[in-house]
Amino acid sequence: KAYFDQHNIKVHIPEGKDIDITPLAGFHFQGFAKRLIRYCQSKFESPTPIQACAWPLIMQRSDVCGIAKTGSGKTLAFALPYLSMSRLGQLDVFEQPCASPRFVAMAPTRELAMQIAEVCTDLVKALTAGEEGLYPVLCIYGGVPKRDQRQAIIQTGVDMAICTPGRLQDLVEEETLDLSSVQYLVLDEADRMLDLGFIDAVQSLIARMPKAGKRQTCMFSATWPATVHALATKFLNEPMHVGIGSVD
Ligand code: ADP
Ligand code: MG
Repeated sequence: KAYFDQHNIKVHIPEGKDIDITPLAGFHFQGFAKRLIRYCQSKFESPTPIQACAWPLIMQRSDVCGIAKTGSGKTLAFALPYLSMSRLGQLDVFEQPCASPRFVAMAPTRELAMQIAEVCTDLVKALTAGEEGLYPVLCIYGGVPKRDQRQAIIQTGVDMAICTPGRLQDLVEEETLDLSSVQYLVLDEADRMLDLGFIDAVQSLIARMPKAGKRQTCMFSATWPATVHALATKFLNEPMHVGIGSVD
């Protein structure tokens, strides 16, 4: 196992994988869309450690399991590579309006889903410079009527779906939303997702997506208990592990 340990950053690579794990020094990266680089530079000084480590791995199309505490910039760590790959035509084309998102992020609560959706919306704006309708972002959560979410899916389509598992399951089971085109799945705050009992919903949703290998999967968590480890083993394909700081 290749192993990298510097500044409290640990990266584990599965046996036999040949991959460059050098953390990025800045926002410049060959595969990134230029507009997104400029957007990040205008907003931030430099990448956070989880971003610097996860970006090259994700851009090399590896599954990534990232463990880093709250507030460490995980949202940008998974959202920016997706939009860059999409822009550069490295994913199947999104045809709209379309009820088959290519990007699905699952989060344990509505508030977290909304925060992710906000970051994604800002990135899409920066990427498309106001061009309407590309990469529509939709936040899908429970506790409100389904009508507006259904209507958005049908009328505008959705490329980036940011969801709580329960409502996503409802919309998938009633066949409003289809998961057969998912190319990039994010399980965010996996430890809390498990604590809140979402495992069955997550499992049944993943069963409707393309298999690991045809789909890239990133999982993030603030802690690393055995239950989260088991989840990674089950749903990720030879994941790279990135741990920032001391984790249990
Ligand atoms: P996490 O998901 O790890 O809890 P978030 O993605 O919600 O963290 O980001 C936490 C905060 O850090 C947000 O306000 C975000 O704008 C900010 N942030 C993200 N990337 C950077 C960066 N490279 N430099 C400084 N701040 C950043
Ligand atoms: Mg987060």
